[in-house]
Amino acid sequence: MEILKERILKEGKVFHGNVIKVDSFLNHQIDPVLIKEIGKEFCRRFGDRGVSKVLTIEASGIPVAVMTGLELNVPVVFAKKQKSANICENVFSSTIKSFTKGTASTVIVSKEYLSNKDRVLIVDDFLAEGQAVLGLADIIKQSGASLVGAGIVIEKGFQEGCKRLTSMGIHVESLAVIKSIDEGKISFDI
Ligand code: 5GP
Repeated sequence: MEILKERILKEGKVFHGNVIKVDSFLNHQIDPVLIKEIGKEFCRRFGDRGVSKVLTIEASGIPVAVMTGLELNVPVVFAKKQKSANICENVFSSTIKSFTKGTASTVIVSKEYLSNKDRVLIVDDFLAEGQAVLGLADIIKQSGASLVGAGIVIEKGFQEGCKRLTSMGIHVESLAVIKSIDEGKISFDI
């Protein structure tokens, strides 16, 4: 997606530990015009797969998921990061290791909002090692729903996430694949 790649090149900042920040349009300030286009692109790529729900994880996945849900005309659910260790029985839960923070956190989704009738599209802002998508896929599995695929805004292609998810049979569509960030310079796969 060319307009996305241009924005990453113009505004993306590279931090220690292979972390890229796009705070000016996705991770802090949101550019609704760009996010709407991203929603349309996911709709173009997944629109014929009978998606009944979009699932993401708080916080940065939410705007992208909402625009995707709007285009697909389906509800959007976000997994909540749970602070207390108390998991009640009316939720699905999974533990996800955060790539950026290095910590593990439990995420939950109410059993009210996912069922075995659902066909679920996962959407997230970044793909690094694939842990967030795997945690969400685990929740989908617990609910008995079908996983349609994963729509990723920015994939860091030099990390293992896409390979890992694909080898598990998860269909991944990334709108911008970063090939490398050598010496702070971002370059894309063609
Ligand atoms: P993974 O679970 O695939 O290792 O990492 C993806 C998750 O970690 C995403 O939900 C995203 O929020 C966060 N993440 C991973 N790498 C980056 C990055 O380079 N920049 C930002 N802003 N978030 C990242």
